[in-house]
Amino acid sequence: MKIFNTLSGKKEIFKPIEKGKLSMYVCGMTVYDDTHIGHARTFLSFDLIVRYLRSIDFEVTYIRNITDVDDKIISRAKELNLTPKELTTKYIASMDEDFLSLGMQKPDAEPRATENIDSIISLIEILIDKGHAYVGDADVYFSTESHNSYGKLSRRNLEDMLVGARIDVDLDKKNPTDFVLWKKDTEGLKWDSPWGEGRPGWHIECSAMSMDALGETFDIHGGGSDLKFPHHENEIAQSECVTGKEFAKLWMHTGSLRIDKEKMSKSLKNFITVKDALENISPELLRFFLISSHYRSPLNYSEEGLEEAKNSLDRLYNSLNELHFQEKEYVKSEYSEKFHKAMQDDFNSPSAIAVLFEITRQINTYKKEDKSDEASVLARELISLGGILGILQDKPEEYFTSGSGLSGEEIENYILKRNQARLDKDFKLSDQIRDHLLDQGITLEDKESGTIWKRS
Ligand code: ZN
Repeated sequence: MKIFNTLSGKKEIFKPIEKGKLSMYVCGMTVYDDTHIGHARTFLSFDLIVRYLRSIDFEVTYIRNITDVDDKIISRAKELNLTPKELTTKYIASMDEDFLSLGMQKPDAEPRATENIDSIISLIEILIDKGHAYVGDADVYFSTESHNSYGKLSRRNLEDMLVGARIDVDLDKKNPTDFVLWKKDTEGLKWDSPWGEGRPGWHIECSAMSMDALGETFDIHGGGSDLKFPHHENEIAQSECVTGKEFAKLWMHTGSLRIDKEKMSKSLKNFITVKDALENISPELLRFFLISSHYRSPLNYSEEGLEEAKNSLDRLYNSLNELHFQEKEYVKSEYSEKFHKAMQDDFNSPSAIAVLFEITRQINTYKKEDKSDEASVLARELISLGGILGILQDKPEEYFTSGSGLSGEEIENYILKRNQARLDKDFKLSDQIRDHLLDQGITLEDKESGTIWKRS
């Protein structure tokens, strides 16, 4: 099994610390808003990785934290006139709903920063004792120059960083690259500490929670590529300065997601939440679309891309249509071997999906030749391999009738046709369209402002 390690910059043969076991920590959500499709991409990638590792019998311990104390949380709570706790409770529930609807498995533990303040404080105490941190007039800082390999993950050199840094107005820090471990004098959320009331910095949370759950050294640390620097660099510095040992052996980062080739941002108004996306497409389609690209490549989210993914998923389900599956063990074919080879090459899901299409083509050939037994055997293999990726678990007839078969755009087109039929006083046609949509689980409601549709 080969996995790309950001730390070494190359694919490595993966050797777990303990044979057959694998410990993995992934930086989770900062819960101040709904999850967007960029989050879905990141966390689905790790869901896929964990599922795959479990399917080949690794005993995986998967930890994904929740950051529930942060500047953004405090200011958003204020804006909405909620307490930070009310805000985070609301968005944790919303996140759970989104991730569940995308078929993600729950991590083995989801530690929350606010529930690990003691561990965080004790790490900071050790860092101060060892001379890696200092108490400023305002906050407590990590001293970046005290760590001799600071910058090793993002391949930055501390001297270059210092030269590159703007003249820092923060006179409380010794170096502009130093970062906050404990923030004093904060509103909203605070705890007692040896340095007065305050709250932890973001980076130290993850050092504390990952080492609490998985030990001082563990197999894999993951996250979105935007976290490489400074977040993950700082986690390494803090943790390795505390323990004197290697922190995570392997670092995995997921590629970025763009919308119509632009960066997703609220100001560009192209910000798509998971809930927005699922108004128009099925969770399975979103999942399939997101895993159709390799987890490390950048991914562009677009109507055309989704349409292509829908055609592909339709094709996969179509090959399963009208086959009867006997409840017997199927014999693993050469396709299975190819599928696993692809997944064991740094979780190459596009190549693995290409194997599913090879199976589909063979099934269709068997069907044409009236070899339904052979087709059924391969169909079972297709379902089984699809299951590893978290797709193809619906019955084809359900897939094609549940509404999954129709995109939002297609539904809108039906509505336009129906409106035209009504203008033409062709009520038979307009009723037919309504019934056709109803068969696919789409209900229409006519309002003064126009027709709205809902999936049931
Ligand atoms: Zn983190």
